[in-house]
Amino acid sequence: MTPIILQVRNLKKYFPVRANLFSREQKVVHAVDDISFNVTKGRTLGIVGESGCGKSTTARLIANLMPADSGAIIFNGEGVGEIGGLELKSFRKKLQMVFQDSFASLNPRLTISETISYGPMVHDTSKEDAHLQAHDLLAKVGLDPDLFASRYPHELSGGQRQRVNIARALAFNPEVVILDEAVAALDKSVQAQVLNLLQDLKAEFELTYLFISHDLHVVHYISDDVMVMYLGQIVEMGPVEQVYSEAAHPYTRALLSAVPSMDPAHRTQKSPITGDPPNPIHPPSGCRFHDRCEHARAICASLVPALMPVQSSHVVACHMNHPSSGYETSGSDVQYASAGATR
Ligand code: SF4
Repeated sequence: MTPIILQVRNLKKYFPVRANLFSREQKVVHAVDDISFNVTKGRTLGIVGESGCGKSTTARLIANLMPADSGAIIFNGEGVGEIGGLELKSFRKKLQMVFQDSFASLNPRLTISETISYGPMVHDTSKEDAHLQAHDLLAKVGLDPDLFASRYPHELSGGQRQRVNIARALAFNPEVVILDEAVAALDKSVQAQVLNLLQDLKAEFELTYLFISHDLHVVHYISDDVMVMYLGQIVEMGPVEQVYSEAAHPYTRALLSAVPSMDPAHRTQKSPITGDPPNPIHPPSGCRFHDRCEHARAICASLVPALMPVQSSHVVACHMNHPSSGYETSGSDVQYASAGATR
């Protein structure tokens, strides 16, 4: 059986917001709300969902770039930080992150070679070894070290800079790389090249990826598994082919049906999701999707659906898919969705 490399347990992050300048009332945005999942070694887990669903916050919490309110990260069976035996310094070498903004991620005053070798030198690699490794990694990401090592970030294109960011992440010999919208800012042709590069590097360095994107085509191409988030929670997760062909959650189906088709015979005739996105400060009761779901019943507003299997490793949080949930298949729909109500 393939081992689990990363376990996320009951991760939670609420961001405090003040109602207005003169108010003492403390409100919170439920950015990530008690999520748990596993990442299998050597696989790519795609994380999708609308803007604000919590996918990037989840990535930052896993990478320890911000503290979680509660929850645990377990890496190769060891708890990370205060809850276990794996120190943050060691964990940060094993898990690296590549961000969307390739320019902001690079120090404009360092050459490309200095950028890639900086991290290993901080972690006690000699300057000479670190520079040799940087040249080697530049070649691995498709940039000729003789041409690029002494250049500065502003002398590179967006695609080239993102290759440098990938090389810099690999300089730590990580086991997991989180790619947060890493190809979103690139032209389609460059995007395809970087995606192919990521696939090659994954095989060569035996990496595991968490691939965060709003682009469902890209996630389908690169992922083995997919996790769908809505308003800070996981609503569906499973092997990518199965979820894309047999999506069980109405939100996943709506997302997939909103993907533009190249075929004029398959134009989307009506909006796949009705209603406005709910306020994350006051998320809807029960199923958070109930005020936009055309299948909502009374139980959906009162009972939080648990993530339960529909097929072996394919899980979904929707009462409709679980006969014992009390969901009435013959009842009349609660008309939240058609009213377009926000709560
Ligand atoms: Fe729709 Fe109810 Fe399923 Fe939520 S639990 S997605 S409201 S059917």
